[in-house]
Amino acid sequence: AKGLGRNTYSYFNEEMNRDVSRRLELEQEIRGALQRKEFEVVYQVQVNVSSGQITGAEALLRWFNPKLGQVSPVEFIPIAEQTGLIVGIGEFVLTQALSVLANWQQQHECALKMSVNLSPRQFRDTQLVDNIHQALIQAGVAANCLELEITEGVLMSGHSYIKKALSALSGLGIHLSMDDFGTGYSSLNYLRHYPFDVLKIDRSFVQGITTESTDRELVNAAIAMAHSLNLTVVAEGVETPAQLQLLKSLNCDFAQGYLLGKPCRSTRLLALELMP
Ligand code: C2E
Ligand code: CA
Ligand code: CA
Ligand code: CA
Repeated sequence: AKGLGRNTYSYFNEEMNRDVSRRLELEQEIRGALQRKEFEVVYQVQVNVSSGQITGAEALLRWFNPKLGQVSPVEFIPIAEQTGLIVGIGEFVLTQALSVLANWQQQHECALKMSVNLSPRQFRDTQLVDNIHQALIQAGVAANCLELEITEGVLMSGHSYIKKALSALSGLGIHLSMDDFGTGYSSLNYLRHYPFDVLKIDRSFVQGITTESTDRELVNAAIAMAHSLNLTVVAEGVETPAQLQLLKSLNCDFAQGYLLGKPCRSTRLLALELMP
């Protein structure tokens, strides 16, 4: 038993060492990644559930590093957050996304929308609101065509500057979207206190709607509640026609997911037909 304990210890130790060195390597490589142009923004379409028409897209960040290969944002965004590098990286994503949006709108002569994700750390940048405002002007895009996606993590700290920033962004006409709705502890409470326009139902609920009656009832209730608060609803992670059909019967406004389109490069986005 003694020997086993020793082995278990060294096993965990090895695993911990591996995690630590992976982290250090990521941290080292992400530092110059922006300058080396290793980031790319890809776009996933959002579709009007009742008409099937493409109404906008979400900008999603990709990182390819020569040493590490393709690294998932799930792994590198937290490191970009902790190092503060997310501020510069976030500005890059916004600039790219708005420039693509301007081209996309021009091409179709319609008010297509773009969603961009914001991390908690970006709110500590006192220039955040100004920078976003300037980026809109620079790109020549109307504020109400930009949607900023925020998770509960942003709101959790309760800092007054976050509330001020969100009010200012909303005041500019920018739409605020609550991302990953249903996964946190107090999403409902935040809806009372912050000026949200859009509710994004998390993929984990959408996945279950055709098989689990609990998931279906929760999504049904979330949509009804959002509508009564004048929010529009986006369902994320829609993968099957049955899920889409069910969301339609529940009056969900917009959908996003592999069924409707995987994240793609801007050239591909610009070549898409908007009508099904
Ligand atoms: P998210 O904001 O919830 O983005 C949705 C994620 O679900 C994306 O993963 C997308 O590729 C994936 N997805 C979309 N449709 C489907 C589907 O039908 N099935 C499945 N299984 N997955 C689907 P991705 O691109 O790996 O991004 C992961 C997360 O990283 C994002 O989750 C977001 O929190 C974060 N992230 C990505 N780009 C940015 C960024 O520019 N800034 C910040 N702050 N965070 C970002
Ligand atoms: Ca998002
Ligand atoms: Ca999400
Ligand atoms: Ca998510």
